[in-house]
Amino acid sequence: MLGAQPAKAHAYILAMFPYPSGSLHMGHARVYSLSDVLARFHRQSGRKVVHPIGWDAFGLPAENAAIERGLAPAAWTQSNIAHMRTQLAALGAAFDWHRELSTSDPAYFRWTQHLFLRLWRAGLVERREALVNWDPVDGTVLANEQVSPDGRAERSGARVELRRLAQWFFKITHYAEDLVGDLDALDWPDSVKQQQLNWIGLQHGVALDLAVAPHCEPAAAPARVEVFVPDAATSTERHGLCIAVGPEHPILASLQRRIAASVRINTDAWLDGGVARRASSHRLRDWLVSRQRSWGTPIPIVHCDSCGPVPVPEDQLPVTHTWTASSTHKAAPGDSDAAACACPKCNGAARRETDTMDTFVDSSWYWLRYLDPHNTSAMASPSCSAQLPTDVYIGGIEHAIMHLLYARFIAKFLAADGVVALERGEPFARLLAQGMVLGTAYRCPDTGKYLAPTDVDTSGEPRVVATGKRAIVSVEKMSKSKHNGVDPMPVFERHGVDATRLYLLYRAAPQDELVWDSAAIVGMERFLARVRTLVDGVCAAGSGGSIASSPPAESGTASSATLAKAMADAREQVTAAMTRFGFPVAVASLIKLSHALADCPPHHAQTRRAVDLLLRLLHPFAPVVTLELAGRLAGAPVTTEQLAWPSAADAAFEVAVQICVVQINGKKAAVMEDVPAVIAHDHAAIQAHVLASPVVAQLLADPATGAQLAPRRVVVAKTGKLVNIVV
Ligand SMILES: [Zn+2]
Repeated sequence: MLGAQPAKAHAYILAMFPYPSGSLHMGHARVYSLSDVLARFHRQSGRKVVHPIGWDAFGLPAENAAIERGLAPAAWTQSNIAHMRTQLAALGAAFDWHRELSTSDPAYFRWTQHLFLRLWRAGLVERREALVNWDPVDGTVLANEQVSPDGRAERSGARVELRRLAQWFFKITHYAEDLVGDLDALDWPDSVKQQQLNWIGLQHGVALDLAVAPHCEPAAAPARVEVFVPDAATSTERHGLCIAVGPEHPILASLQRRIAASVRINTDAWLDGGVARRASSHRLRDWLVSRQRSWGTPIPIVHCDSCGPVPVPEDQLPVTHTWTASSTHKAAPGDSDAAACACPKCNGAARRETDTMDTFVDSSWYWLRYLDPHNTSAMASPSCSAQLPTDVYIGGIEHAIMHLLYARFIAKFLAADGVVALERGEPFARLLAQGMVLGTAYRCPDTGKYLAPTDVDTSGEPRVVATGKRAIVSVEKMSKSKHNGVDPMPVFERHGVDATRLYLLYRAAPQDELVWDSAAIVGMERFLARVRTLVDGVCAAGSGGSIASSPPAESGTASSATLAKAMADAREQVTAAMTRFGFPVAVASLIKLSHALADCPPHHAQTRRAVDLLLRLLHPFAPVVTLELAGRLAGAPVTTEQLAWPSAADAAFEVAVQICVVQINGKKAAVMEDVPAVIAHDHAAIQAHVLASPVVAQLLADPATGAQLAPRRVVVAKTGKLVNIVV
């Protein structure tokens, strides 16, 4: 998709922003290496690039962690952000730091509150009593999406209780049809689309109203019940719906009794008879956004006994009452005097809403704010629409449902409400769902417990140090409790950030799981050392000045054809990887080019040209070392933008070749197609080229011993197109 738009002047490369937990993990290193590769490629291609970073800073984990440490959530979060900022800098990623935002910053959530009020004005916010999922450990309500199928809270693991409480909802169901229909236009992995489809669960069918009278109270007035029957329905049992009707009911005439005791429902007859109507239904429920916690965006509503719920006027935003920078107590904001206020409508005594919003509201619109992060009069200027949708959105597959669904809903609303011009209201045209980084975990065979690294001897077959027994080895998602996490910072220090990035990009395709193996990074260190040696050689050969002023290519060496092919292949494969994300193949082609260069004389202009090409193509993957080496080659410091992306012409040079028939004792044995044309009249050079060929070496091997037969005589024809070897 990106490749099909070469004329595009800008690119928006967005990676999901981190939660400021306090330390960068390997998943972060992987996702931001991926986004940085793409951002640098587009900068090298002359595009204006948006590559922002920020912090998904509200939420329960920060609140709980701060309470445990006796700190205020704001102070805890800010110190985590400061630390992680230095870690991200160490990753070598070129972020637009001037766009940095934090969802817990009043300058940001003032506009999250504005979004709430926009939704309110559009009739898409509702407060109603609902049977909700109550997490007794975290003391808050959870969305259905945050409860696992076995009825436990995803975060705390507590068994969720059902309670009837007044809660705030966003009417996402209003957009259910669009959220399904517009998936088709998105360049997203099919698995993610399918998960969204399953979650929304849209079905078409027929609806009819049934009058239901309880049979134990024949005098009672019948209740009317709307019944939905999906088109795919073949039996009542399958949908868990059992409708009992009296024998005299006319509806029975349209039911055909079959011999799954199943009943096939003839909805056509109902439609024809005017009993039912076409309708759709979905599994998706309205988005419950109320949270009874303090570390979140306060809901900007005032409750007045006379006026009911009243929105806080725009000029009084942000509402910050439910938390303060010094607050350390576990949130019970409803008890606080801070909730007392005057009604904005009648000026009578009122109280503020003390619920905060689900953090998924904060992250539902940050992709827009990045484009205009310092705007104090609007969520973003209308001119930002020109930079949307994002070209690539990169993030973990674990966000396939909730975050992506909520962000799509809010984008559709903002487009409908005139805040942003966005085709179909879709913010993320293309999605790269990154696979997890897995680590090797060891368990004790006796207790089944995970073992700390010091408790396992991995010098040979992994064994428990204490007992000498063979440890149980498994590859699992990195986690502290399994002792299989790898902290990226010591890895950067030991192997270098460039080698680590290359490893992350080469080890597995970005969509696949990556099994971490520290020992394998040295291969990337060796590759970078080889590149450094190549640059050292070219610089020592001293043909200073820029590539453009170099003398024409010498194509007379036997390795010219190999080098030419390696150059063209590398450019083609690395460029293709930027649109198809085939980074392992791209890095492999760069390694191959470095090997092809190893045989080239450093004083040749062609060698220098190929080394220059290698540095440009390698730059997105290994930015630190390539900027240094390209600067040495150019004789002055260079920037990413100056390392212009090579064109096909830059990566090609003419290597005229001719065919040569090889005879052994006068019999045709092989045809060589790579004899450089410039040596056609240099019989000694042709003879050397032919004898150095692996094909000829094989032909001259003694079949019994494998020893090389020594040619007694070699005759080269006048044309240079026939060589007869006499053995
Ligand atoms: Zn009032």
